[in-house]
Amino acid sequence: MRLYEFEGKKLFSEAGMEIPRGDVATDAEGCVRVARSIGFPVVMKAQVLTGGRGKVGGVRFADNAEEAKRTATDLLEMEIKGFPVDRILVEEKLPIRKEYYLGVTIDRAAYRFVVLASEEGGVDIEEIAREKPGAIHRLSLEVDEPLYGYQAITLAKQMGVGGKTVRSVGSFVTRLLAVFKRYDCKLAEINPLVALEDGRFVAADARISVDDDALFRHPELQAMGIEKRHEEGEMTPRERQAREWEIPYLDLDGDIGMFPGGAGFGIMGNDFVHIFGGKPANFMDSGGGPTPERLAKMLVLLDENSRVKVIFGARFGGISRVDDFVKGVVLFLKEHGLSKPMVMRMTGNMWEEGLRLFNAEKKAYPELFEKIDAHGIETPIEEVVKKAVELSKT
Ligand code: GDP
Ligand code: MN
Repeated sequence: MRLYEFEGKKLFSEAGMEIPRGDVATDAEGCVRVARSIGFPVVMKAQVLTGGRGKVGGVRFADNAEEAKRTATDLLEMEIKGFPVDRILVEEKLPIRKEYYLGVTIDRAAYRFVVLASEEGGVDIEEIAREKPGAIHRLSLEVDEPLYGYQAITLAKQMGVGGKTVRSVGSFVTRLLAVFKRYDCKLAEINPLVALEDGRFVAADARISVDDDALFRHPELQAMGIEKRHEEGEMTPRERQAREWEIPYLDLDGDIGMFPGGAGFGIMGNDFVHIFGGKPANFMDSGGGPTPERLAKMLVLLDENSRVKVIFGARFGGISRVDDFVKGVVLFLKEHGLSKPMVMRMTGNMWEEGLRLFNAEKKAYPELFEKIDAHGIETPIEEVVKKAVELSKT
């Protein structure tokens, strides 16, 4: 579960880290009220469950009430990476001298926690890693290993901090790790941790992701007004629709709609598409012995996705049967209709019956099947994938 910036900052503040003065508001009047109470100039930040707001205009400044009102109205009309903005964090505008990066996450390969620190803050850590990998300093710890003061100080020094401020950055390291552990986080990040003109350090941003499986251990989050929202706040509208229909579904950024039989085959299908130069628009699992109704809904998700240029459907009948698969396709064609080309392949359990059904329906309603290019065991899966990739490029 991801936390909003203002929620993350609450946890930081409780752990003794300095955060900017400010408050959240849900409308323009509220923003002006908060701004007046802390004094201008202010920074106004869209509260959405995604990073990189700065780059797309989700972080603005205002010097007076009129500007704050206008900016609030602008921000509340925005959608950032598919997330509508319903809340704005209004804070004192900090006089920033320099931006640093500080984060704690899990090194899954090593089963350890890792503290990441860099002098190159403000931009995405992925970007720093790509462009200046040497600028990221790491401290890796066993799950139950304590962090000693000298280790935190060493990290601060590696970040290029000197003199009296070493200790205050060191205590940010210690406290961030404490928050990370206390709330069973997957990620706790301050980007940027800023040095002010007067030498103080402040957490200017907060990104926290708590492990969903550990949420039951943290009723205190709810007591703080941080409500449980699982990953729902991070879903796209289509993923939410799929969840309602109980279809495991993920949007990806390609243009080939993937209509697979089963999760394993789905993963393999996505790999195949990549190997042959295409890009899947989604990952989907039919979820074991699906009914025709469910299969038809899976196709609706793909056909109504404007990114999708072609649908790749493959059923290797195992536990689930090819004839049921065909029934789902036919139901979809009759109730909804196919608006894009679809390449499909049917093999495995009950394939003869599936093919018989397919051909009979096709004969009865040829116009419904016009956009379908169907194959059986005679065409290798690679060839079917290649056809779909080709169609995605026309
Ligand atoms: P993100 O883009 O979603 O990560 O949002 P951030 O909260 O990190 O803000 C993006 C950038 O806006 C920061 O890296 C700063 O450069 C700038 N920024 C944010 N808050 C302040 C502030 O109080 N004062 C100044 N001068 N710049 C700020
Ligand atoms: Mn940031």
